[in-house]
Amino acid sequence: MEKVKKQIVEQLVSGTINRDESRNLLKMDPKDPERFWTYLDVLQDRVSWTDKILLRISDHLYVVKKEETGERLVKCDCGHELGDYRANWKTATNIRIRDTKEQIDKVYYPATAAPEPEWNEVREFFCPTCFAQLGVEVVPPGYPLIFEFLPDLDRYYSDFLGRPLDDEKDDWYENHTDKRTAQWL
Ligand SMILES: [Zn+2]
Repeated sequence: MEKVKKQIVEQLVSGTINRDESRNLLKMDPKDPERFWTYLDVLQDRVSWTDKILLRISDHLYVVKKEETGERLVKCDCGHELGDYRANWKTATNIRIRDTKEQIDKVYYPATAAPEPEWNEVREFFCPTCFAQLGVEVVPPGYPLIFEFLPDLDRYYSDFLGRPLDDEKDDWYENHTDKRTAQWL
């Protein structure tokens, strides 16, 4: 069975892969069964910390298993930790809200594509340490923060990858956002 070279996956992740190579990846039949592990290796090589990456959430964010405590945390590539992955990471960011036409127009072009401030606000989420923009959402004012991604990691690793995690437990796949926000009251 054909295996994808790590170097090709590195190029894919960094966006430097050429058109022919990316086309070859798309056409592979069957797909390389090791591709997820190679991908994790490539991601791990790109960060300066050693907590094990379990899954990538977005350009900057990862779910990791913290070495010292065994917690599953959301971590920015800069090393900043955004807490237990079961709570919406947005609650641990710096948030800028654009809720006037003037503020919204600064980030929309053409103006006709911009959301109307009477109906929507634009929320931008930033890492408190490296200030990378981690996400954006456009929602009606007062709408709860959207929790975009709560993966069932135990099931993904055991049922889909065939390599169960060694710290499986029943309450990993639960939304704990309310527990975090309750601490603020
Ligand atoms: Zn960061």
